[in-house]
Parts: sequence; C-alpha cells; structure tokens
Amino acid sequence: MKLQDKSAIITGAASGIGKGIAQTFAREGAKVAIADLNLDSANATAAEICAHGGKAIGVAMDVTNEEAVNAGVSAVVEAFGGVDILVSNAGIQIVHPLEDFSYADWKKMLAIHLDGAFLTTKACLPYMYKSGRGGSVIYMGSVHSKEASMLKAPYVTAKHGLIGLAKVVAKEGAKYGVHANVICPGFVRTPLVDKQIPEQALALGISEAEVIKNVMLKETVDGEFTTLEDVAEATLFFAAFPSNALTGQSLVVSHGWFME
Ligand code: NAD
Repeated sequence: MKLQDKSAIITGAASGIGKGIAQTFAREGAKVAIADLNLDSANATAAEICAHGGKAIGVAMDVTNEEAVNAGVSAVVEAFGGVDILVSNAGIQIVHPLEDFSYADWKKMLAIHLDGAFLTTKACLPYMYKSGRGGSVIYMGSVHSKEASMLKAPYVTAKHGLIGLAKVVAKEGAKYGVHANVICPGFVRTPLVDKQIPEQALALGISEAEVIKNVMLKETVDGEFTTLEDVAEATLFFAAFPSNALTGQSLVVSHGWFME
C-alpha cells in the first residue's frame, strides 16, 4: 500500500473527482478526511469508504471561510494525529461571456478556487512542517491551467493561478520535505461537467451532443472523457512520491487534449 498510515485531507471530496481520490487513497492505506460544504454527503462518502474497510471521516468545511478551514483542519489533526497530504480540490464552474460575467460571480469563482487553495494550504503547512515527515500538497488544476476556453474567464484565471501557488509552496516547503504539484485533468463526467453541457449548448446555440463532441472532447486524441480513476491514479502518484525531486510540477491527464 502506497499511503499506509498517511493522513489526507481532500476538499470537495463528497462528490466527483475528490470522492474518487478519497476512495483510491483509502484503498492505499491512508486515513482520509472528506472535507466538503455538504456535511451529510461528506459523512455518507466517509461511511461508504469505512464499509469497504477504509478509514475516513466527514468534515464540514467551506474552503472560502478561514475559520471553517482552520477548524476543519484542527479536527482532522485531532482525529488522525496529523496531516501528511492535502488535496485542494473543491471547485465549481460558472460560464458566461466576459461582458456578461457579474463581478459577484467572478469573485465567487476566485474565492473557491484560489482563496480555498490558499487557506487550506496555510492551515495544513504548519502541521506538515512540525511533523518531521514532510508532506504533499496537490492542487486540482485543469487543462484550463494551461489553455483557455471561451466563457470561462475566472475558471481559466484561477486554474492558471494554482500553478503559481504550487511553485511557491514547492520552494518554501522544500526544506521541510513538503512537495507541491498540480493535476490538470481534461473533461471528467462529474456533476460539475453534467451541469455545463446544457449551459454551454444554450450559450453557444448548439446541441448538447455537439458540446461534447465539438467543444469538450474536440482536441483529444480519441474523443474520450478522462475518468475518475485516471485522475485518482495521477494524484496518488504525486501523493506517494517520496522526495523533493518531484515538486512544483503540473501533470496533464486529458487524452492528449493539451500536450506540453
Ligand atoms: P463536483 O461538483 O462533482 O464536486 C465538487 C465538490 O466540491 C462538491 O462536493 C461540492 O460540495 C464541493 N464544494 C463546492 N464548493 C465548496 C466550498 N466552498 N467548500 C468546500 N467544498 C465545496 O465537481 P468535480 O468535477 O469533481 O470537480 C472537482 C475539481 O476538479 C474542481 O476543482 C474542478 O474545477 C476540477 N476539475 C474538474 C474537471 C471535470 O471535468 N469534472 C476537469 C478539470 C478539473
């Protein structure tokens, strides 16, 4: 098992990609904290993992609220004795052409994706630094950390920003053995993407099938969605990597949509 006895906090893990990562980490021996806005769903995900023999707890956390983040991280440290891995994954999507984007929606997007990454990192680093065991911070970026798409100004801006944050954490964390990296998935069928398909069809004046084929998967090498398992395996690779050799990096998992 690659994460035996490690303690991991995964934000937004009650659904989609975060849930897939939590299940994979638990299978590899980690104690996982399912940190999410929605405590009932977080507890349900944790119960599912425990029913399969894993160790998991649900934690209520709005990643945009500093007190909630600090309280959630303290609760995890109390329950698991520390925190070795942070996966900052919570996210939402709002799509509009720039000229129609409300300032409130812009700020909400940056708050969840960027403030959330900052606040959770800030809360976890002192525990990683003190433990003497090092740690791994992983940000859920996107192909949109590298590429732009129409209608997604704040999402693309925030996802690019996470790469900058990871590089700073990599530099500051190195002397404590703390690595920071970014996973950049292509489209994965989760509630977040399922919600966008009709919205994009409406905004672009095309059918939902055309959104999938001609917008979402157009640039992939094989017209395939990336899966939860693909993203979870890539995240596990960063989480389990034992040295500072792999830090400050971003890994694109997208069926060739974006090639470095
Ligand atoms: P999802 O909607 O299935 O899950 C997101 C989770 O985040 C939900 O459980 C939600 O309750 C939680 N959340 C939302 N706001 C929160 C907040 N303020 N505090 C705490 N939790 C909050 O979405 P997903 O597709 O699994 O997306 C997860 C991450 O992956 C996001 O950062 C997203 O940008 C990124 N991503 C997704 C795709 C994709 O195609 N699905 C591709 C690339 C990157």
